Amino acid sequence: MIKLATRVGKVSQSITLAIAAKAKAMKAQGIDVCSFSTGEPDFDTPQHIKEAAKLALNQGKTKYGPAAGEPTLRAAIAKKLRIDNNLNYTPDNIIVTNGGKQSLFNLMLALIDPEDEVIIPAPYWLSYPEMVKLATGTPVIVQTTTETSYKITPAQLRRAITPKTKLFVLNSPSNPTGTVYSATEIKALAEVIIENNLWVVSDEIYEKILYDGAEHLSIGAVSSEIFNRTIISNGFAKSYSMTGWRVGYLAAPIELIEATNTIQSHSTSNVCTFAQYGAIAALEESQDSVEQMLQAFTKRRQVILDGIMTIPHLSCPTPMGAFYVFADISHTKISSLDFCEALLESQKVTAVPGKVFGTDNCIRLSYATDLTSIEKGIDRLAQFVSSL
Ligand code: PLP
Repeated sequence: MIKLATRVGKVSQSITLAIAAKAKAMKAQGIDVCSFSTGEPDFDTPQHIKEAAKLALNQGKTKYGPAAGEPTLRAAIAKKLRIDNNLNYTPDNIIVTNGGKQSLFNLMLALIDPEDEVIIPAPYWLSYPEMVKLATGTPVIVQTTTETSYKITPAQLRRAITPKTKLFVLNSPSNPTGTVYSATEIKALAEVIIENNLWVVSDEIYEKILYDGAEHLSIGAVSSEIFNRTIISNGFAKSYSMTGWRVGYLAAPIELIEATNTIQSHSTSNVCTFAQYGAIAALEESQDSVEQMLQAFTKRRQVILDGIMTIPHLSCPTPMGAFYVFADISHTKISSLDFCEALLESQKVTAVPGKVFGTDNCIRLSYATDLTSIEKGIDRLAQFVSSL
């Protein structure tokens, strides 16, 4: 047996990726699987973005580039953050990364020491605690409930803070719950962060997928004090259906960006050069495709919510953003892992167990799939629940 490094034993495999792979494999075998497990839009990348990358390829943008990213892309991101989010960054405050995932990973490596604690509200995106552990820090999980629509309250945050707390992780709109913090809630959390000299990383990867008039406020825009303690993580995967392109970014005070640049220069170097030209087109050219995808998600969200409401024993708060519903299964008295396994076995429907997001009495259903599959999947889910 190989004696692996201790750090590997502390982290678990990404179960969402594993479930998605299993569903794909079953589909490849000709099995009619309804997949509610994918964390990626089912739309193709908009054509103009692809054309920009093709042009870059043809123009020979095939070489190593600066580790921090193509200067034009860093400038476009700084402009986007100014216009969309009211955040005043220069290109030097930006690093382009291999997706939002690497931006958060780099940040943890740059900021977290072994004694440091990182506060993460649950349900959380499953990689946050694992990244903290890989950076040898300690994740401190604060459980939230449906009573606050899965939002951490300032009082809960205050109670979780110790002299070792370094960072608070905020994700709005949230994966897996779809919850969106209001401006008042964001401001109240900002006060606690400032009072306690913490850092906050704001994962804004779902910022453009909002419903029913919900608005996204970037916590860094609340005041100059919080701006200086904020790190923004974002990417192109969800808004522009560019999951496979692997382009994301971090925006932060220059010292932190330089630290992540040093780390990145010894790990992955620059993000695929021609992919970055696609990202420039995503930001600089028409945003119509973002709107079209949002319209499709809005319709699907209604269909899945209506469907869940008809299933006895299941309930969920109305998600205001992203493309997930987080359904409470506690009345079925089955653990989320057993529920999802039996659902796949008996009905060929994939869902992600809430346990991987830190909340075992729920399952996550992604509606980043076509309407017919949603309707069929909900019927099967209803049959499954009625058979229990
Ligand atoms: N943050 C959240 C909340 C996510 O759900 C994801 C992907 O599922 C990411 C970050 C990372 O996205 P990517 O690395 O594809 O840009």
